[in-house]
Amino acid sequence: MTRTKPETAALRKRIALVAHDNKKKDLLEWAQYNRDLLVQHELCATGTTGTLLEMALGFHIEKLRSGPLGGDQQIGAKIAEGKIDFILFFWDPLEPQPHDPDVKALLRLAVVWNIPVACNRATADFMVTSPLMNERYERLLPDFTPHVNRFAAERNEPVPESA
Ligand code: PGA
Repeated sequence: MTRTKPETAALRKRIALVAHDNKKKDLLEWAQYNRDLLVQHELCATGTTGTLLEMALGFHIEKLRSGPLGGDQQIGAKIAEGKIDFILFFWDPLEPQPHDPDVKALLRLAVVWNIPVACNRATADFMVTSPLMNERYERLLPDFTPHVNRFAAERNEPVPESA
């Protein structure tokens, strides 16, 4: 991977949470078990997931739109703006979702921006017990300069050096 300057995640991580309906119980149980850890971080979630989590955990969670109404895309936008450090996305592998393109888009953006994603409880367990949870983490980013400047020549602009 070509590197540009890394994005640094602070000690207080910005965590996005999403669970499809058949996976909400799983995420709620997991979050209750990890409540003392989660309360130290900044949480946002798709609408229904966030409402249920807030009731179960008893602290504030930023609630976005419900997933099928644009919530997944709002999380994607936050990723592109550098406002998410990692995602817990318990998606349902056994039921088709009406907003499948949004699900795919969210997972795709997480890969584009090198964001860790836990899609099940075991991965979430490994993630939150990582020593990196208690450290600043420098997430390396690919060099997007060639993509951003791919039409620079047509605009008669000098092609900038990659960072
Ligand atoms: P919800 O959305 O939290 O509003 O149920 C989750 C999803 O299906 O993306």
